[in-house]
Amino acid sequence: MSTRVLLIEDEVPLLEATTYFLQQKGYQVVGVTDAERALEAFRLQPCDLIILDWNLPGAMQGIDFLRELRSGQEAVPVIMVTGRTGKEDIIQGLEVGADDYLTKPFNPEELIARIRSVLRRTHQVSGSPNRRIVYDKIIMDLDAHRIWVDNEEKQLSPKLFGMMQLLMMNPRRVFTRGQILDTVWGNENVGEKSVDVHACWLREILGEQGKHVVTVRGFGYRFGA
Ligand code: CA
Repeated sequence: MSTRVLLIEDEVPLLEATTYFLQQKGYQVVGVTDAERALEAFRLQPCDLIILDWNLPGAMQGIDFLRELRSGQEAVPVIMVTGRTGKEDIIQGLEVGADDYLTKPFNPEELIARIRSVLRRTHQVSGSPNRRIVYDKIIMDLDAHRIWVDNEEKQLSPKLFGMMQLLMMNPRRVFTRGQILDTVWGNENVGEKSVDVHACWLREILGEQGKHVVTVRGFGYRFGA
């Protein structure tokens, strides 16, 4: 499967040239010209990597997009592209969660090298770029089967971990008790009450962050506001 790249660049000739170049190299590219559209595109279909221009039209700059992205559950690698060479800007970008940066004008071959290096780094950790989920003060490491709440590690049984993973990977989506049973319990013969009991335990273990496990009356559960 080819790597899917979301490219955010408001200079249309540069957007087109970069898209063409990446496609020639075998990447699937979705190109957008502002951050609002980028968020929409990302929510519709998450990608493996984001190339993000710093200066964008509209209310949301590249850095705001990045902040918004990282405040959600997304650990997708991001390469920032900027005309700014000031150290403070670069540091700010990295602090907010960019994985690498490139200054304009750049050589397309260098962009490819950066993409490969960032993907290698993220794949090394996990085999796939999205194996860590972050939401508010909760961090889940799906490969290591570990979870931290407000920087403190918590112990979850496999069922609790499975339920948490299902909910957290799909924020704001409502799951019925039946769907949760099918996904987490599989063929085990347990009743829907088990889901409620586990939801209670989950809230207890998560403490204040348990507020994100929301009961949707008459349907089931969802994660997040
Ligand atoms: Ca720009």
